[in-house]
Amino acid sequence: MYPATFEYHRVGSVEEAVGLLARYKDDAKLLAGGHSLIPMMKLRLAQPKHVVDIGRIGGLSGVREEGGTIVIGALTTHYTVESNAALKSRCAILPEAAAMIGDPQVRNLGTIGGSLAHADPAADWPAVVLALGAELRAVGPKGARTIKAEEFFKDLMTTALGPDEVLTEVRIPVPPAGTGTAYVKHPHPASRFAVVGVAALVTVTGGKCQAARVGITGVGGTATRAKGVEAALTGKAFDTATIAAASAKASDGIEFTADLQGSEEYKAHLTRVYAKRALEAAAARAR
Ligand SMILES: Cc1cc2nc3c(=O)[nH]c(=O)nc-3n(C[C@H](O)[C@H](O)[C@H](O)COP(=O)(O)OP(=O)(O)OC[C@H]3O[C@@H](n4cnc5c(N)ncnc54)[C@H](O)[C@@H]3O)c2cc1C
Repeated sequence: MYPATFEYHRVGSVEEAVGLLARYKDDAKLLAGGHSLIPMMKLRLAQPKHVVDIGRIGGLSGVREEGGTIVIGALTTHYTVESNAALKSRCAILPEAAAMIGDPQVRNLGTIGGSLAHADPAADWPAVVLALGAELRAVGPKGARTIKAEEFFKDLMTTALGPDEVLTEVRIPVPPAGTGTAYVKHPHPASRFAVVGVAALVTVTGGKCQAARVGITGVGGTATRAKGVEAALTGKAFDTATIAAASAKASDGIEFTADLQGSEEYKAHLTRVYAKRALEAAAARAR
């Protein structure tokens, strides 16, 4: 399949990209790694008249730490996150989740910003940024703003980004001492997208769970936090009985979508099973 005809623009700055988005509005689409946009264009599910290639903008790629915050540029590829040695000790869930995305080709071209902006219901990053309490920086015609991850994912492939905004970075607080993080997923056997993916963060001191955040992806229209699980853990003795009781709440409040991968009941079951696995893995890393 060939995409519909479009005009290609290669930009050198975020401001230039914002200017073109503001000029062409709904007729324009940003291009980052192209691993979601190009398939959609080939299937004619997207037919932008103007494609704005941000892939060569300097300064939008890479991982750094500023004070207590991990900053990941929007153009950072999944592989760059996967292979970052510092992240493995500072926030293990990030390279862990990155390594589970697609295949080497996808990980070498696909970007964290493209994945978050695309908001595929089966994408991995949305669950992870929800669990980590990340903030997303966007730049538009009125300047820069910060959006909390939990306010970013609005609906199926719909985010809080305006049509003329560019996502520029993901900002993640370095997890405090006593924290463990983990991402587990049941992958689609062909694409590796998440049939269900669960990201967990737990902070444990003196055997008690001080804080818990759990993000779930793959099972509904959009990634979501499992607030029932979090409430069932926080303030409790962090033991196998608490984890089992909390995991049983992982499917509460989710609108499951039945599809070729399974029924609503099957997905609800998988969600509870994978929530337990994610919490157990995060607990084993809490130190
Ligand atoms: C075979 C295959 C397997 C895959 N498996 C997985 C998987 O297991 N897990 C998973 O999570 N994903 C998977 N993906 C998706 C992959 O991670 C994509 O790379 C990702 O979803 C999109 O990133 P991109 O950089 O390629 O974005 P693009 O395709 O370039 O863009 C995607 C969308 O986001 C917009 N966009 C891009 N960057 C920005 C920005 N900075 N600001 C605002 N809007 C922006 C674009 O306009 C477009 O609408 C798979 C893809 C393929 C082709």
